Amino acid sequence: MPFRQINLIEPLQRALARQGYTAPTPIQLKSIPDTLAGKDLMGIAQTGTGKTAAFVLPILQRMTEKYPRVLRALVLAPTRELAAQIGDSFAAYGQFLRFKHAVIFGGVGQGPQVNAVSRGVDIVVATPGRLLDLMNQGKVSLKDIEFFVLDEADRMLDMGFIQDINKIIAKLPQKRQSLFFSATMPPQVSQLAHQLLRNPVRVEVAPQATTVELIKQYVFFVDSYSKEKLLLELLLQKHLTRVLIFTRTKHRANKVASYLSSHNVKTDAIHGNKSQGARTQALQNFKSGRTKVLVATDIAARGIDIDDISHVINFELPNEPEIYVHRIGRTARAGAGGTAYSFCAADERNFLRDIERLIRLKIEVMPHAYHSNNAQNAAGAAARPPPKNQRGRSRSFRPHHGKSHFGR
Ligand code: AMP
Repeated sequence: MPFRQINLIEPLQRALARQGYTAPTPIQLKSIPDTLAGKDLMGIAQTGTGKTAAFVLPILQRMTEKYPRVLRALVLAPTRELAAQIGDSFAAYGQFLRFKHAVIFGGVGQGPQVNAVSRGVDIVVATPGRLLDLMNQGKVSLKDIEFFVLDEADRMLDMGFIQDINKIIAKLPQKRQSLFFSATMPPQVSQLAHQLLRNPVRVEVAPQATTVELIKQYVFFVDSYSKEKLLLELLLQKHLTRVLIFTRTKHRANKVASYLSSHNVKTDAIHGNKSQGARTQALQNFKSGRTKVLVATDIAARGIDIDDISHVINFELPNEPEIYVHRIGRTARAGAGGTAYSFCAADERNFLRDIERLIRLKIEVMPHAYHSNNAQNAAGAAARPPPKNQRGRSRSFRPHHGKSHFGR
């Protein structure tokens, strides 16, 4: 079904055509008509479903009813990266409209953000802390807000933003349209939704397992001390074209990135200790293909929207199984498939068991040169059948010993 059938105006359709999008994703299809009709929305969807366009498009369309150049739309997002990406979406989808937007987040000087707002903007995308700062200084007023979006609400609460969010909500006009997005709906999140929304339409798409099923997943049993060597061997393979590697800690992210760089694999790392400039540069390098490998921690990677990630590699397994789902979802944007490799050492065997329970899938074991029976059979592991091939093909990874094809 093309976008015309959900009654988007021509300038938006033209912008979508420029992006190369031909049809709405399920969340867009289910939510845009009601949002255009002015209803509040509770969207249960994770990144990768097209949820950003699901709120940006109808807000832009509703805003075209008048052009007063006051701050009428506010989007709150948990991280600076996500806020910047949502700002980019307003720019891309609104390229044939006359609205101005500003992105507000902490960790950088406030001067340019204040200047942007004081020149007059229609839309602000912000992380809660800095927005509240600027509100308290009288630099941003929410009195004319007509459209309010809370994105990734579950993550906002995980990150401890609830008080800031409540303070911001208290300053919003009563008469407004509110849109609420969250990947999961634990009680605290649904309480916040009820506080915020009036008679919302509830739209739920792609339960996590659906996304997970699109991704080919393999586990490599390997001792911790062999992980770097295994990683390097994997990265020599040509079909690993754009690789996002996850570690649990910032320190490990740095170590892995410098190990790879010292072996001629161009790699950047992003995590909370890096300056905003360094993070932006690393993301740009990765998006443009200048670096093929990016090492990230979970918080830093949250909401990163990069197409065509061929492989996600869990250098370390996360201790919360939901994080695994978020991580591997990076390689299956908007319905495309991808591949996820997970390195599992003996002390991570329980994490693997929890992940397999959550996704209700036994992850296929990939044989390799550094295979560790110790890791595979570590105590605490659930009884596991011998490695079975999910797709009936024999696949085994044999390391190359030739030149790296990578990062040259
Ligand atoms: P999101 O869930 O908002 O992070 O979006 C995931 C990815 O899907 C982004 O790279 C979008 O640019 C892309 N996308 C959004 N809408 C569509 C669409 N209708 N068709 C194809 N890709 C889309």
